[in-house]
Amino acid sequence: MENFFNISEEILSASEKAMELCSEKLKEIDEIQEYNQHKMLKAFHNARVSESHFTATTGYGYGDRGRDALDEVYAYVFDAEDALVRHNFVSGTHALTVALFGVLRPGDKMLSVTGIPYDTLRSAIGIEGNYPGSLKDFGIIYDDIALKDGLVDYQALEQKLDSSYKMVYIQRSRGYSVRPTLTIKDIERIVKTVKSINKDVIIMLDNCYGEFVEKTQPMSVGVDLMAGSLIKNPGAGISPTGGYIAGRKDLVEMCSYRLTTPGTGKEIGATLGLNRELFLGAYHAPHATGEALKTAVFASALFNVLGYEVSPNYNDSRGDIIQVIKLGTPEKLEQFCAGIQHSSAVDSFVTPYADDMPGYEDKVIMAAGAFTLGSSIELSADAPLREPYAVWMQGSLNFHSGKLGIMLAADEIFKGK
Ligand SMILES: *Cc1c(COP(=O)(O)O)cnc(C)c1O
Repeated sequence: MENFFNISEEILSASEKAMELCSEKLKEIDEIQEYNQHKMLKAFHNARVSESHFTATTGYGYGDRGRDALDEVYAYVFDAEDALVRHNFVSGTHALTVALFGVLRPGDKMLSVTGIPYDTLRSAIGIEGNYPGSLKDFGIIYDDIALKDGLVDYQALEQKLDSSYKMVYIQRSRGYSVRPTLTIKDIERIVKTVKSINKDVIIMLDNCYGEFVEKTQPMSVGVDLMAGSLIKNPGAGISPTGGYIAGRKDLVEMCSYRLTTPGTGKEIGATLGLNRELFLGAYHAPHATGEALKTAVFASALFNVLGYEVSPNYNDSRGDIIQVIKLGTPEKLEQFCAGIQHSSAVDSFVTPYADDMPGYEDKVIMAAGAFTLGSSIELSADAPLREPYAVWMQGSLNFHSGKLGIMLAADEIFKGK
């Protein structure tokens, strides 16, 4: 094959070996992609998606049929009673925050069972910073159970949980931590334990990065409400912005009153001509997620061959599209990120460096040459500048580009030392 990027012989042969190692896993992912693609098509057929649904609405957006059909599509693929899919959600954090404020009331208690939530949610809950308008400011009581050896501490959960809690909060993906991601099986076990103690508690899931990774949906194992970002898995790199909330009908309705106003809820909100891209993003989401998963598996195998500690391993079961590689030094982090950046279709000629980021405690280095700003279903890598100098990488809209990005990242480290 033509070596357009002058990749070293050593990395080329390590890559060949990595492909052999993960060939079975890649086939498994193919099968999940196919299942979820068929389900997505079924959702489109059920909702009778039609060209007329792509028509732009303005102003109040009354009677926007596309908006309603899009909710129906996502509700079906997520096995949810209802969904709220809107470009108006400015981020995943926003969708999650609307869900929290949608269902919690002053005096209510929430319990996070997967340790402290993802960095950007901490200020919204009131765990970090002291922002007016946080859940804490509104009198909502937050508590958490730290993970034990990276897993849910069931003993502590059984001791702490009682009927006084209104919500149990679960984060599926690892975020910027080194703990393993929860698989659907893990989520099922948490739900069963929680419901056996308090059957009325609302189980809410941060589903970011988990969409379409497995065949079974969180709703099917008892999760009541979940939220995520359309510039991750469920938007396939095509949705230009947005987020979703899905789950029990009564809870989604409450969230819609928080997003717009009590009374208008889901019935309002102009889509401004974005429906076509949101539908196209949904349509491609199962495939794009699979391509990102394949890229993560290849990265795991390649860096394993090259002697690095990786998590998950290439043959492990996965609950999200994130791959962590412990590189060990800040220099290697920078080289890795440079390689990812230089493989991108967009902004291939720039080199990323570490800097302060709003919402994050440590300096962060981020590599992304994305068509959509901040889109992490596109190949991207982030690393907070702290021990153990691990990089969190995810995405790629197609495996061939993703594989090349990983090879260039490895090559950059190889040539840099
Ligand atoms: C991405 C992500 C979020 C939301 O982040 P945004 O950048 O606001 O979209 C929340 N939780 C987890 C685990 C995530 O990965």
